[in-house]
Amino acid sequence: MTQVTDHGGGVRSIRVPIPDNPLGTTLVHLVDTDLGPVLIDTGWDDPASWDALAAGLNACGVSVAEVHGVVITHHHPDHHGLSGKVREASGAWIAMHALDTAIVRRTRENRPDRWFSYMADKLASSGAPEEHVALLRAARTARLSTGLPAFTPALPDREIVPGELLDLAGRRLRAIWTPGHTPGHVCLHLEETHPAALPGNGRLFSGDHLLPRITPHIGLYEDPDDATVADPLGDYLDALERVGRLNPAEVLPAHQHAFTDAPGRVRELLAHHEDRLTGLLALLSTPLTSWQLAERMEWNRPWDQIPFTSRNIAVSEAEAHVRRLVKLGRAEAVTGSDPVTYVAL
Ligand SMILES: [Zn+2]
Ligand SMILES: [Zn+2]
Repeated sequence: MTQVTDHGGGVRSIRVPIPDNPLGTTLVHLVDTDLGPVLIDTGWDDPASWDALAAGLNACGVSVAEVHGVVITHHHPDHHGLSGKVREASGAWIAMHALDTAIVRRTRENRPDRWFSYMADKLASSGAPEEHVALLRAARTARLSTGLPAFTPALPDREIVPGELLDLAGRRLRAIWTPGHTPGHVCLHLEETHPAALPGNGRLFSGDHLLPRITPHIGLYEDPDDATVADPLGDYLDALERVGRLNPAEVLPAHQHAFTDAPGRVRELLAHHEDRLTGLLALLSTPLTSWQLAERMEWNRPWDQIPFTSRNIAVSEAEAHVRRLVKLGRAEAVTGSDPVTYVAL
């Protein structure tokens, strides 16, 4: 099975496996520049993934040692996992948006007990049943007793500044800030004529923001140090509209496959989220906690078959949707409720 696709015009993609994950692979893109190849994302930090990346680079006629730079769409480990190893092997710089760099810094510095306590409190206030919160506290105890070294993703050396061209010799690659999936997610717009002259404006490396057949997870920007009431779903929908207006000739996402008609895909996603918000409003005709809402929402399987960690993700997604409805003035928190319940207006 071929792991490398040549997209023309000095752009190739390498399929890098994600172990034990239904997404299967990350598409790492290789962009030729006058100073050497630059990677967009690197893949999961796992020996098999590293071998696949190195083999893919070799198939492109370059070695890991020749990589000049690494541009990261967002901090998630299926995108940023191997960045540190690539930098070690090549001396390449790593670039990331400041808000995701802040998360990397926090991950490196934070004690895991702080994170577990924060999440346990947060789930309890979302209305999670005690037996669920207890599982999290048990995981915390297990984690603390293993004495495993802290998870240390690589600290980037360059900042990706929204709206600016990246410093790439001989290429025009502009950073488009697309928060929502993470606070510092960026898409990268290659402002060059499409190699097959497809109609539209250049090509867009879309990370997880715009994918052909799945919707990215939109939860809350969980930050134990920041009490700002963010609206990630609102951020995401705004950024989708902006990306649709760019009208790229082709989208090169970080999962699945390349595709055309970005504005059409944006319209589908906007309609999907509008349907979802409307469905939630109907559920909120009676007051519900975020947990109760998550239990009643539609997922890819029945609630009682959703495993523990996925339930946490589902609740954060329910909360992101409630947050949007509250911001739109279509729902509100019931005064005095504890855990807080929400009701449609
Ligand atoms: Zn992601
Ligand atoms: Zn991803």
